[in-house]
Amino acid sequence: MQTPKRIAITGSGLVGTLLAIYLQKKGHQVDVYDRRPDIRTMQFSGRSINLAMSTRGWKALEGVGIDKSIREIAIPMDKRAIHVPNKPMYFQYYGKEGEAIYSISRGVLNKKMIDLAEDVGARFIFNSKVWDVDLPEAVIYTGESQKGEWTAHKYDLVFGADGAFSRIRHKMQRSSMFNYSQYFLKTGYKELSIPAGEGGKHKLNKNSLHIWPRGAFMLIALPNLDGSFTCTLFMPMKGENSFDSLDTEAKVGCFFEEHFNGVKDDIPNLIRDFFKNPTSALMTIKCEPWVYWDKVALIGDAAHAVVPFYGQGMNAGFEDIMVLSQLMEKYGDDWEMIFSTYQKERKPNTDAVAELSYRNFIEMSSKTADERFLLRKKIEKWFSEKHPGKWLPLYSRVTFSDDSYAEALREGDLQNEIMDEVMEVDDIGKKWNSEEVENIILKGLSEKKCKS
Ligand SMILES: Cc1cc2nc3c(=O)[nH]c(=O)nc-3n(C[C@H](O)[C@H](O)[C@H](O)COP(=O)(O)OP(=O)(O)OC[C@H]3O[C@@H](n4cnc5c(N)ncnc54)[C@H](O)[C@@H]3O)c2cc1C
Repeated sequence: MQTPKRIAITGSGLVGTLLAIYLQKKGHQVDVYDRRPDIRTMQFSGRSINLAMSTRGWKALEGVGIDKSIREIAIPMDKRAIHVPNKPMYFQYYGKEGEAIYSISRGVLNKKMIDLAEDVGARFIFNSKVWDVDLPEAVIYTGESQKGEWTAHKYDLVFGADGAFSRIRHKMQRSSMFNYSQYFLKTGYKELSIPAGEGGKHKLNKNSLHIWPRGAFMLIALPNLDGSFTCTLFMPMKGENSFDSLDTEAKVGCFFEEHFNGVKDDIPNLIRDFFKNPTSALMTIKCEPWVYWDKVALIGDAAHAVVPFYGQGMNAGFEDIMVLSQLMEKYGDDWEMIFSTYQKERKPNTDAVAELSYRNFIEMSSKTADERFLLRKKIEKWFSEKHPGKWLPLYSRVTFSDDSYAEALREGDLQNEIMDEVMEVDDIGKKWNSEEVENIILKGLSEKKCKS
């Protein structure tokens, strides 16, 4: 049991709201500040950006008993549906039977979480931008503008859950010994939409994450409850086949005709949306330390923004909260210990998920259409079914387990070495489930055990 504290959270995004629920349930009084208006009062045009929730996210929701109500607004996706030119669409199952990631509208989820946080007593202060923070005193400053008058709000603790462009982190960056890196991918993204078909039906298989992999660029689509799909086009910002080069309606039309012919007609507002919707950048942010004494801590994207190709950004932020919660149970009122251990435990893991996320772009955009890659996955699946205790595929470890991300990265690299050797076997296409292959993997695993 902890002594109740007055706590400010900057940011009412997904991480800020879940953190508010956890802290309120532990007896603290939480105020959540957001520069935006209350998202619940905003009209959505029907189109919604969506996210994939996986095991880590669900566990964090379970921790405060809200998973069931969130499942009601989620659609399970147990497979990728791959669309390559001149081939019928095919499925790649993500995990074992019953395992799925869940498509959820970011807006709907955020609204619901704010409701749930209010139900347990958190207070929300919208239209209130935090401009500055006094780190040793845990005072935040809000106001209309950077140059205008600010109001000071004193708390016992402050959490920066204010996303990739965090103002709280910005202040910490000015301290000595604060390390920070930000890396923009040359690939950006744009949202498009496939509306519902007749009678509100999904036009494509509803329980799949659809991918049109095209090498340097790709289109993906995730299902929404209203029968629509939210599509995201990932593409280089500059160069051939880039957002820069598609600068006329005719060029966009021809590009989709050439590369996404099978789905083009399902995106009726393609041209309008392509020019209306923003092109956004993708980046990885790393920093250290995440905490200031026992007063201030960064959490979620404010501490570690990753590119979205593993669908783990929000999941990792939710896992931060789980870890914090466990440390609060363990260390009680020793917030300095809680914060320093939180950072020590999480930092190597969020660095690892940054690396995994970066690598997964290559897998999604190029390898899902590659015969040898598919064979490799088939062998891994066969072996892991035959020896379930010996081999958990990397994707499953990241997505369907709560093994640490650092361990997942390490294990994944070792598995890769073994699979490289397997793929060298002559005529592997025919021998993929042979005793020879099984023995290579078993030998690789036992050598790996000796090394570690
Ligand atoms: C295209 C794309 C797809 C993604 N897909 C997935 C996915 O499938 N699965 C997944 O797990 N993750 C996914 N992510 C990542 C996920 O969106 C983020 O990790 C997650 O939203 C981070 O939540 P957060 O609360 O930390 O930050 P945010 O969601 O960015 O929220 C920050 C909040 O802080 C507020 N704020 C900012 N500055 C201030 C200030 N100065 N004062 C007051 N308030 C402020 C903002 O208004 C906002 O409400 C995706 C990201 C992108 C870009």
